[in-house]
Amino acid sequence: MDGLEQDVRYVKGIGPKKSKLLNKLGIKTLQDALYYFPRDYDIWDDIKKASDIVNGEECSLVVNFKGRANNIRTRRGLVITNWIANDDTGNVVCVWYNQPYRASIYKNSIKYFIRGKVEIKYGKIYINMPVVEEYNKDKHDGSKILSIYALTQGITQKDLRNLVKESLNKTNGQIIDYIPCSIRKKYDLVEKNFALANIHFPQSEYAMEQARIRLVFEEFFNIRLALRIIREQNRQNIKGTKFKWDNRKIQYFIQGLSFELTIAQKRVLQEILQDISCDKPMNRLIQGDVGSGKTILAAIALYCAYLSGYQGVMMVPTEILAVQHFESFKELFHGKGITIECLVGSMKASEKINIKGRLSEGDIDIIVATHAVLEEDVIFKHLGLIVTDEQHRFGVRQRAALQEKGVQPHMLVMSATPIPRTLSLILYGDLDISIIDELPPGRHPVKTYHVPSSMRDRVYNFVRRQVQEGRQVYVVCPLVEQSEKIDSVAAVELFERLKNGPLTSLRIDLLHGRMKGSEKDRVMEKFSNGDIDVLVSTTVIEVGVNVPNATLMVIENAERFGLAQLHQLRGRVGRGKYQSYCVLITDVNNFQIRERMQIMTRSNNGFDIAEKDLQLRGPGDMFGVRQHGLPEFRIANLFTDMEILKRAQQAVDEILNTNYDITYKNLIDYVMHEFDQKTKKIAMN
Ligand code: ADP
Ligand code: MG
Repeated sequence: MDGLEQDVRYVKGIGPKKSKLLNKLGIKTLQDALYYFPRDYDIWDDIKKASDIVNGEECSLVVNFKGRANNIRTRRGLVITNWIANDDTGNVVCVWYNQPYRASIYKNSIKYFIRGKVEIKYGKIYINMPVVEEYNKDKHDGSKILSIYALTQGITQKDLRNLVKESLNKTNGQIIDYIPCSIRKKYDLVEKNFALANIHFPQSEYAMEQARIRLVFEEFFNIRLALRIIREQNRQNIKGTKFKWDNRKIQYFIQGLSFELTIAQKRVLQEILQDISCDKPMNRLIQGDVGSGKTILAAIALYCAYLSGYQGVMMVPTEILAVQHFESFKELFHGKGITIECLVGSMKASEKINIKGRLSEGDIDIIVATHAVLEEDVIFKHLGLIVTDEQHRFGVRQRAALQEKGVQPHMLVMSATPIPRTLSLILYGDLDISIIDELPPGRHPVKTYHVPSSMRDRVYNFVRRQVQEGRQVYVVCPLVEQSEKIDSVAAVELFERLKNGPLTSLRIDLLHGRMKGSEKDRVMEKFSNGDIDVLVSTTVIEVGVNVPNATLMVIENAERFGLAQLHQLRGRVGRGKYQSYCVLITDVNNFQIRERMQIMTRSNNGFDIAEKDLQLRGPGDMFGVRQHGLPEFRIANLFTDMEILKRAQQAVDEILNTNYDITYKNLIDYVMHEFDQKTKKIAMN
């Protein structure tokens, strides 16, 4: 071992109190400190001469203070200290506010290093609030780069720098670089010890940049390699269940639908059918914008499973969605002799027992379920296909838990969060990807408007008009915080206000996450049947809900939602033949929010919106890699570092094209070990 596992607590100058604070930053050991990369750098350039100074720049000078300082008290009680300093080429005026002690701490005879932002006014050079240190040739001469770390109260930059220094000393340049020399050479990457040293204490800007590129590359490279290896292992070792079905039945089923599949749907369906007719387990992700028609493909695959003599499960993130799919499957498969059931957490214990019993006996063919199906006592007789809908709610681990319930069942993952392709390659590196890049014909893009709350009356007029025309409306409540409880309270309040106020003449009802399962079902069913005009709701309707007659969505406090979520919400309307609308109400008028609203009003394409979202705020919550069960990136930026990602991918492909088990054994052992450690940590949190 290299001593990096040492607890930071025992490092000189740290101790129990600071170590607790450091733990908050995720730093428990010297190893953690080494990988706690700076968030920014302070770049100190060469010392300037007063005669060369340019207005507005930040610069360093070496000076003597002349005479005495001048303390001026303003009428408002502010003390301004002026002190002229000189470096043989000219004078500069140092200015401090409310720091009168400055006037007594510097000596005329001593040379000082000063640094600050320069302002030239009426031919005079001013430096506001300069940093002043006694000049020290070794410390101040030449340019240098100081790393800046994200801190927490009670921890200073100096603490972190010391810690990192200690870690680097311990490693003594002896960390094994698992990226082989040949790859480093080919991809122009600096060596690992050099990279670690220079990311923290850069020798030059060039070295800093090289260090960063190397570490970003490594981050992408490791995760991509790990996921690809997992995928290869899935493919090679495991014999899956080969489905065999009568294709005429499938054709007949498709012909019986009320619509024709789009070209994109047909293409993706072929990919699925190809997969499940092989004896290697399918691991496929279907990506498609909201409303692109993913469900029908899942249904066809489940039908194939049934015709092949296997059970299938459709796992969804909410009870509402489970019930909805359950109902629509019953209709879709009517008269085909398929036994379909539903399993959700809020069911009565006796009902659950009944369902579980029949599942294990093989008396149920298709089950639509929530997380409840993950419980240990849910046993299948012969599970052949798992579909998970709206996958972004499930992690890699949950996927695996479900897979263990069958004998190598096929797995179909459906995601309605469109993400840029490059990103999906990372997040779903262990899956094959199919993309439905086309909406069914005849859909009108949802017209989207961004309005202040002062226009609320007009919005409610519009709601009434839509209802008069026979349409239905969603009113979505503000997201208060990540708390279903508080969100639900907000929904109840809004509901009461609308019901007793502007929408009193309409049939209005309420849906939120704190309602009982059966209550929710009842409301949803009424809305589906057209017995409710206006549904006031929290984001429980975000995922998957399908009521084609709903044509207007009003979103309150739209600024509280991220772009991806707004797009998801908006996807609940525009599902039928009518022109649909989305009204975003917000009074927040800063640049960021305006930008976000503008993107929503201009684009209806989930992939574009996702790209913009990533650009605007980096891979934030919606694309948070953590919720995909993957480790967070420490240094890579998923948007700006795409070029490096491409190269890392290329390197991974190259490795996989070799006899990698042998040639790159050390690398792969290391990468898989790291990946396991990290994903385990996430699963435990
Ligand atoms: P999502 O991809 O968001 O899950 P759904 O599968 O819920 O979308 O489909 C949305 C609606 O579009 C459903 O009412 C579905 O019946 C309908 N639909 C699916 N495919 C087609 C198609 N090819 N033509 C017309 N309507 C379709
Ligand atoms: Mg769906």
